[in-house]
Amino acid sequence: MNSLRALSIKYVKGVGPKRAELLESQLGIRNAYDLLHHFPTHYLDRSTVYRIADFEGDMPAVQVRGRFVSLNTIGEGAKMRLVGLFSDGSKAMDVVWFKGIATLKRKLLTDTDYVLFGKPSEFNGRWQMSHPEIESPSLAMTATGIRGIYPLTETLRSRNIGSRQFQLWIQGVLDSHPSIKETLPQSVVGPLGLMSLDDAIRAIHCPSDNAALQRARLRLKFEELFYIQVDMLRRNRRRKGESVGHPMPRVGDAFNTFYTECLPFELTGAQKRVVKEIRSDLLSGRQMNRLVQGDVGSGKTLVALMAMLIAVDNGMQACLMAPTEILATQHFETISEMLRPAGVSVGLLKGSTRAAERRKIHESLRDGSLDILVGTHAIIEDGVEFRNLGMAVIDEQHRFGVAQRARLWAKNDVGPHVLVMTATPIPRTLAMTVYGDLDVSVIDELPPGRKPIATVLRYEPQRLQVYKATYAQLRAGRQVYIVYPLIEENEKLDLRSLNEGYGIVCDTFPDFKVAFVHGRMKPAEKDYQMGLFASGEARILVATTVIEVGVNVPNASVMIIENAERFGLSQLHQLRGRVGRGADQSYCILMSRHNIATDTRKRLELMTQTTDGFVVAEADMQMRGPGDIEGTMQSGVPFDLRITNLATDGAIVQMARDAATRLLDSDPSLMQADNAVFRRELEACIKRSADWSRIS
Ligand code: ADP
Ligand code: MG
Repeated sequence: MNSLRALSIKYVKGVGPKRAELLESQLGIRNAYDLLHHFPTHYLDRSTVYRIADFEGDMPAVQVRGRFVSLNTIGEGAKMRLVGLFSDGSKAMDVVWFKGIATLKRKLLTDTDYVLFGKPSEFNGRWQMSHPEIESPSLAMTATGIRGIYPLTETLRSRNIGSRQFQLWIQGVLDSHPSIKETLPQSVVGPLGLMSLDDAIRAIHCPSDNAALQRARLRLKFEELFYIQVDMLRRNRRRKGESVGHPMPRVGDAFNTFYTECLPFELTGAQKRVVKEIRSDLLSGRQMNRLVQGDVGSGKTLVALMAMLIAVDNGMQACLMAPTEILATQHFETISEMLRPAGVSVGLLKGSTRAAERRKIHESLRDGSLDILVGTHAIIEDGVEFRNLGMAVIDEQHRFGVAQRARLWAKNDVGPHVLVMTATPIPRTLAMTVYGDLDVSVIDELPPGRKPIATVLRYEPQRLQVYKATYAQLRAGRQVYIVYPLIEENEKLDLRSLNEGYGIVCDTFPDFKVAFVHGRMKPAEKDYQMGLFASGEARILVATTVIEVGVNVPNASVMIIENAERFGLSQLHQLRGRVGRGADQSYCILMSRHNIATDTRKRLELMTQTTDGFVVAEADMQMRGPGDIEGTMQSGVPFDLRITNLATDGAIVQMARDAATRLLDSDPSLMQADNAVFRRELEACIKRSADWSRIS
């Protein structure tokens, strides 16, 4: 592996300095190791040659065989393109090039057989392919077995760097490295019957048959997951084994007063269980690192608050970090309100906190007069010093990765106990990958008396009815959310439809005050508008997803989501969780365009069928792939996943977790000779990812 990493990509046979630069800037490939780990995304079976006459629908990249009937340049200057009419006897299609025209014109001949490979698209009723890969049939036929198709960028394609090119470069490296050294311990590979690394790398690029390809994929997926699992488990065990935590044996005045006098309701069974789990962590003398998963509205905040009170009872400070200013403010208000009789001091620190106020908070943190600090990321900034921080709660929306958690732990000689709360449930295998270093508690019960939120899907023609039903709720004294999508790529249009929507809502419900919030507003204005709604003065809130996380207005009973088809399931579930917080029947109305894809309709229909966040999260991952979920969680996955698909590879995650457990059971610090190579690889991996997180 080291010799592969040491071989700079520009010295790989056939690459050279110019293309090396391209490969690095386009795909991050810097050396032979990176090249070998640029895996095909799909494969082309030599045996299938498509007929142009059979093209239909959304086509994958395919292989066709035929001849150019004509080749002509069209247009001039920058707009010049080369268009070939290509026929395979069944039908003809257009083949278009925008770059490299002179060379192609010299090389390509009419009346000569070619095999083209590319993705057909339909344009004005005609099929066309742009920048396909071209081979002469004799060459195409000598290649054996299944051929890998590599993920490429437009820029690379336009410079005539295609899959065939990758194959040749990779073949060159493999030929000059007759045996790639195994990196996983034999004790892991052997019992699981995994393919060797050498075989797997060769087979992933050039499989002899499908069975070999599948075994290679399994081995390589297992490998990347195994590194993550060993890293996560080792962090967890190290902290449990070595790190001392603040012992918190006392349950005292703060906790007891709160429990007996301030709590307006009984804890649910699940809340009690999780508080117990936290208690036993705090008694252990070890540092707590616990993830609390629970559905929207399951009462995570309360659990966090009780954990913080135990810290206070033991003479230490606690902090609660929220992902947005709105949420931090709301947590601060609920918590300071609830704690008033208990005599516990609570402060709020946000990015927008003024200097004088900030100074006061810094001071009271340092002299220990402030017990609990609530805030945004501002509270882990360098200037913030606690006298004795004993408990840190992160109420998060998948924004905190292993690296950031580590920074928090480093705030003290003895790191504080850490409680991470997810905003919504996440699928188990994803949790294992992103939060694998934490112990997990699940709040799997909602407070009693909650009526399931009635969710319906409605289309534009039904808008009037929707407004009628909404009006009835308003008349009955309830409050209403109306949410619009706002995404960066589409910001101008989105803001316009948001503004229009606001206008229409004001016109439709003239008797009620309407508050208006979006992410581009100044914090002060946002707070003011949110305040109007929270106090009940405004009965309708028109907003973008800034309200997604955590906002709590129990009197709200209707959530209307505009353009629901543009939201992910987990996001819809989060939004829906804003209502149904009181005892009244609540409603969630998903407004959608009529002409949506079947998949999209299925997604939205699922929302109308279940209110269980764990079911939604699992379905979201299955339907969309982990891409989106992962996207929002990217900072959480410690090492890159190149080949694993967390949505479909759950079984391999489990397999890697089990194997990692066995390995660390038998050799906790990986000091045995058999594990030396693996240990070095793992350390290198961790170092690289730490370097990255510093840069980004
Ligand atoms: P989430 O888990 O989404 O963070 P919250 O902590 O915001 O949920 O709680 C949602 C609502 O449920 C709050 O209004 C809270 O006061 C209420 N709540 C929490 N626990 C209970 C309980 N045991 N019984 C009744 N209501 C509860
Ligand atoms: Mg919450």
